Amino acid sequence: MDILLPVMSLGLLGLLFGIGLAFASKKFEVKVDPRLEKIQGILPGVNCGACGQAGCAGFAEALLEEKVLADGCKVADDKVKEAIAVLLGQKLEKKIKKVARLRCNGGKKVKDRFIYKGVKDCLSAKLHLGGQKQCLEGCLGFGTCAKACPFSAITMSEEGLPVVDIQKCKACNKCAQVCPKKLFSLVPINNKVIAACSLHEPGKDTKTVCPVGCIACKICEKACKYDAIHVIDYLAVIDHNKCTSCGECVKVCPAKTITIVK
Ligand code: SF4
Ligand code: SF4
Repeated sequence: MDILLPVMSLGLLGLLFGIGLAFASKKFEVKVDPRLEKIQGILPGVNCGACGQAGCAGFAEALLEEKVLADGCKVADDKVKEAIAVLLGQKLEKKIKKVARLRCNGGKKVKDRFIYKGVKDCLSAKLHLGGQKQCLEGCLGFGTCAKACPFSAITMSEEGLPVVDIQKCKACNKCAQVCPKKLFSLVPINNKVIAACSLHEPGKDTKTVCPVGCIACKICEKACKYDAIHVIDYLAVIDHNKCTSCGECVKVCPAKTITIVK
């Protein structure tokens, strides 16, 4: 009989706590959008962060909060993007794929000003008097861009220049962000003509540091029927919206600065 009262009290207390917890879980329940799990299941799941969000889970949440668009994942192929758009009731715009292109063709053709013995990294090299190369705007060749590419789309050539595999490139722009000389631009994949120099110096000064640098002669400007290339501040610049990749400027460029890429 002595034990009955504590057992009943405990039982009653348990019941009361149970009811309280059930009520609290209902009241403070966080509603999860059922689409979240579906989107996470569709995404590639590589968590590269190239979309600017904290991995694929962050991107899925940002999609539901309408902070990003259905085609914002840099790794997803068209089918995945379309599936996400359908789930969210969005319509995808047809966009031309862009790829990273290098605005330098110097590499080993450009001599060194001094022997650099520091860490084999372009940013570290740049911190030493702007880098070892005679051209102060050209590629330093230590492949910091190749190491930073999350898709292994860049390899370093024997010429000491980065080569972008356009099939692997996802236009995430990581190479452009890490390159201390700011040598990469994202260019529409079907645009094959690139002005591969970044040095804004008069022709005679450019010639002394790089045999393939732009000498600002403007012959390319005159050859272009589409008004797509102009020499601005001693440097040939292509308007990729106008360029048809006809290659006329490539044929006439005496410095071989303008090149056709694959
Ligand atoms: S492109 Fe830029 S990051 Fe890449 S090797 Fe050249 S200097 Fe270095
Ligand atoms: S890092 Fe550059 S080369 Fe690599 S995927 Fe991104 S944009 Fe393309």
